[in-house]
Amino acid sequence: MKKTKFMNRFCQGAVLTLAMLMGACGSETESTVESVENAVKEDVASAEEEWDYENTNWENISDSECRSNVQSPVDIKAEDVIEANLEPIKYNYTPFDMRIVDTGHAVQVYGTENSSITVEGKEHQFKQFHFHYPAEHTVDGKRYPLEMHLVHQEKGSDNLAVLGIFIEEGEQVNEFLEKVFVRVPEEKEKEVQTDVTLTLSDYIPPAQTHYTYTGSLTTPPCTVGVDWVLYKEPIKASQAQLENFAKYYSNNARPVQPLNNRKILKTME
Ligand SMILES: [Zn+2]
Repeated sequence: MKKTKFMNRFCQGAVLTLAMLMGACGSETESTVESVENAVKEDVASAEEEWDYENTNWENISDSECRSNVQSPVDIKAEDVIEANLEPIKYNYTPFDMRIVDTGHAVQVYGTENSSITVEGKEHQFKQFHFHYPAEHTVDGKRYPLEMHLVHQEKGSDNLAVLGIFIEEGEQVNEFLEKVFVRVPEEKEKEVQTDVTLTLSDYIPPAQTHYTYTGSLTTPPCTVGVDWVLYKEPIKASQAQLENFAKYYSNNARPVQPLNNRKILKTME
């Protein structure tokens, strides 16, 4: 769903650019027109396919918002945090059979349409969760080994709310994560439907203390206007689980971005 939206937006942009370039070059030779078309095709590839974590200067990716000044992730510095009387998040998560894919950028699990959360009075449907190794957000400079993002979309809108859960090393095997990690498909970009049932509410940190701020997707096209909720309390996974996960992705974290004039709100403790 998300990808379709991005592709639609992308293609609109690409067609417009091509039309403008063709118009401007109408009297040029055929070979010039071809090279312009090729240049546009390369641009099209760059936003959807050709970005990577070797070079995270994504500002020049066409039809992306990666260069805006309200990007994610950020470092959550104590001096930028304001305690506020935030409404508790309401969870309406129902069990679902997980569908899993290695997208080439992350390990991702899709849910069904019947799970949702309510954030500040607005209902958001659960879409998917995925992982970043190491964590993308930092807390006073501290970086956890892993961060999970649960992506939700507001009903009747394109607005996104993402729950971020930090994962740190602990003694025990995390059973929820184990169900996911042992089923990462060997082939990239191949979705696998499983009969393994997940219940997200089993996994949300019990302490509801969280930070919230407005930022962006942390991957191209870096769409802005994303409501972030980051739980202060990490959950735990065993050392072996974290080490095994790093075999799939050992660096799919975007560097922290400047907070600029934004503030980060935090629930009262
Ligand atoms: Zn993410």
